[in-house]
Amino acid sequence: MEVSVYIHFPFCVRRCHYCDFNTYEGMEHLISPYVEALCKEIELLGRALPERYLHSVHTVYFGGGTPSLLSVSHLHRILTTLESHLGLEANAEISLEANPGTLSMAKMRAYAQIGINRLSLGFQSANEEELRLLGRAHTLEDALRAVEFARVAGIDNLNLDLIYGLPSQSLRSWENSLKVALSLGVEHLSLYSLTVEEGTLLDRWVRSGVLPYPEENFAADCYELARELLANAGYLHYEISNWALLRSGEEIPVCRHNLQYWKNQEYFGLGAGAHGFLGGYRLANVSHPQQYIERIRSATVCSFPFSPAVQECHCVTPEEEMRDTVLLGLRLVHEGVGEADFFRRFGKSLLEVFPKEIARLTKKGLVEWVETDQRRLRLTRFGQLLGNQAFVEFI
Ligand code: SF4
Repeated sequence: MEVSVYIHFPFCVRRCHYCDFNTYEGMEHLISPYVEALCKEIELLGRALPERYLHSVHTVYFGGGTPSLLSVSHLHRILTTLESHLGLEANAEISLEANPGTLSMAKMRAYAQIGINRLSLGFQSANEEELRLLGRAHTLEDALRAVEFARVAGIDNLNLDLIYGLPSQSLRSWENSLKVALSLGVEHLSLYSLTVEEGTLLDRWVRSGVLPYPEENFAADCYELARELLANAGYLHYEISNWALLRSGEEIPVCRHNLQYWKNQEYFGLGAGAHGFLGGYRLANVSHPQQYIERIRSATVCSFPFSPAVQECHCVTPEEEMRDTVLLGLRLVHEGVGEADFFRRFGKSLLEVFPKEIARLTKKGLVEWVETDQRRLRLTRFGQLLGNQAFVEFI
């Protein structure tokens, strides 16, 4: 059994206009105590760890926020703490989310030296006006330079995040962003449709009429265009929002960490506001970094899987686990949910558990059965566009 570790770093230079993530600006003074707390959280969980979890960590993901604001020595300290208290597999995938404006050649080389082997860059757009609209703290030039730094440093697993469906974005501008991203030959692309989240600056602009509300059909057009361009450029569309570059004779550079989520497998969620799925529980840590630091500081022990920072926990019933497995598995465009895999895990067949849901979705043309190594239930091409309508059946 393999397990993953997600580490949340809730600090950013400034908040982007569309962002409602658990992140804070102007709190850099908390970074050092936060790293102390993270290391202590790892130690406490490590001491309480059942033996079957030892040395089974196969992916680590530093997400945020902006984890590239961490100094290399802080990152190194967290990784060595993980190694000594949880144990990392020899070929573990270690990913770091990075804001292109925070990187330098020296930092990139140091990342590679301490074992970061996958970098996910918030590229977002190749259009400077769109970057400004989004409130990103970087320019296109920063992003292009970051890719170059990563390559020179020998990081050969690079992802770019791009965002589409922006107010006042044109299909032509989206096409240009995709083409610039494709010209960089990165191993992985994650494309996200913009959601105008309540309470964000973008939301206020849209509500007050300063900006037009992004049209729903426009996002679908952007998605269609991306599917076509990326397929032509040799990328495998393996998850609704994710593509991996196919190179002959090489392993497909899918994101192993995210596959852990989509296959509904266990993961630690460490840091403020991090979510985990461990020991049969869905867990969520307290969100604010100051409260997180205080909780961990005052703790001396914990009982697995409950970190002292856990604020919410929910024991997952077998019924919920089956629903989650289908809901998440359907995100995998080719794999979907394997009938035999499902039976092996739950001792029941997919059709026995969800006969009505599957019948309804098949009738609507959203899912289909395909025969590969086993019979698999997956979204149709049409279903990929309307994924939420399918997922709602399993909520
Ligand atoms: S860099 Fe990411 S986490 Fe930070 S404010 Fe921008 S979108 Fe939010």
